[in-house]
Amino acid sequence: NPKLSNRVNEMSTSATLAMAAKARELKEQGKNIIGLSLGEPDFTIPEFVKEAGIKAIKDNYHSYSPVDGYGELKQAIITKFKRDNNLVYKPSQIVVSTGAKQSLANLAQVLLNEGDEVLLPAPYWVSYADISKVAGGVPVEIPASIDTDFKITPQALEAAITPKTKMMIYSSPCNPSGSVYSRKELRALADVLVKYPSIIIISDEIYEHINFTGEHVSMAAFEDMYDRTVTVNGVSKAYSMTGWRIGYIGAPEYIARACNKMQGQVTSGANCIAQIATITALENPPSKIQYMVDAFKERRKLILGLLSEIPGFKTNEPEGAFYVFPDISYYFGKTLKGKTINSAQDFAIFLLEEAGVATVTGEAFGDPNCIRISYAASGENIKEAMSRIKTSLS
Ligand code: PLP
Repeated sequence: NPKLSNRVNEMSTSATLAMAAKARELKEQGKNIIGLSLGEPDFTIPEFVKEAGIKAIKDNYHSYSPVDGYGELKQAIITKFKRDNNLVYKPSQIVVSTGAKQSLANLAQVLLNEGDEVLLPAPYWVSYADISKVAGGVPVEIPASIDTDFKITPQALEAAITPKTKMMIYSSPCNPSGSVYSRKELRALADVLVKYPSIIIISDEIYEHINFTGEHVSMAAFEDMYDRTVTVNGVSKAYSMTGWRIGYIGAPEYIARACNKMQGQVTSGANCIAQIATITALENPPSKIQYMVDAFKERRKLILGLLSEIPGFKTNEPEGAFYVFPDISYYFGKTLKGKTINSAQDFAIFLLEEAGVATVTGEAFGDPNCIRISYAASGENIKEAMSRIKTSLS
């Protein structure tokens, strides 16, 4: 639409949200659709967190909070960073935002100039590319495939660096692949990055707790990376608080200050009730949410078992988050039920229309051979969805 800015015209719609909307449309037409497209835990918020939210309302929390978050919440975040990640931050290094998505958008806005390159180990979370582009950045994908467990090598990282490289954004555990970088692998990437001190690393650790390897490693915990790494986290995934919209960063002070300034002109800070509830969420040890992690682990086993019985799905074993990212390129060029499949997008649409299962095309995540299937769903729905997919392809 020429009446709109180039900025928004050039932006792509979030593919995950678009798929969810299409699935909703079919549901409204009376079709039975199983939604495995959204990255949203199907658990409810733990009772102790809900109670803290209710108490905050009754305690009359109602006014603007400090732009970068309540002091008490920052303190809880500082304690959490020390307890879980061995990271030491001061209050002036913490900024609370309206979801980790806003944390990332702030970072892109305060760090990128026109033409600055942003390294994105691919597959990557859908929004990294557009969040970077809207801030003037140029996404540079570093492709990794299922053959390397969707993880990049230090050689590939170094080859992608140019004088214009400004930052790198990655998530581990990764959305969409579920891959987790081990300490050794992350250290090997850090060994490359230390040679290029002007590159800033954005480590998105939102899936930290949903990790089946037993170890989560923060890039900033490497001493030589601390001053150039921003740690992004939030409560959406671990505490099932997606709609409460709280995310946060631990960052070098000059970056935190800039995010605070940016946010002060955009949102005036995050929702005050959700901030107070987040204090309680973070003050409790991660063992309190272990039941969710255990359930995800069970479901991973279930879905991997069922997927292995479907021809043409090449799947690795994801080590975290709640997604599988099968390579389905086997179907490219084939005609299924009269529909020719030329891309992962065609395949995802086929599954939606013929099997009634919503997934997301890998193209949006920078891998055109794959689709993302979320297993943050009940065992029953996972079984039914896999059975329908199998039938639709036979
Ligand atoms: N980072 C990754 C990798 C995600 O998958 C998501 C949510 O899907 C986010 C950030 C954003 O989370 P929030 O709900 O805190 O904005």
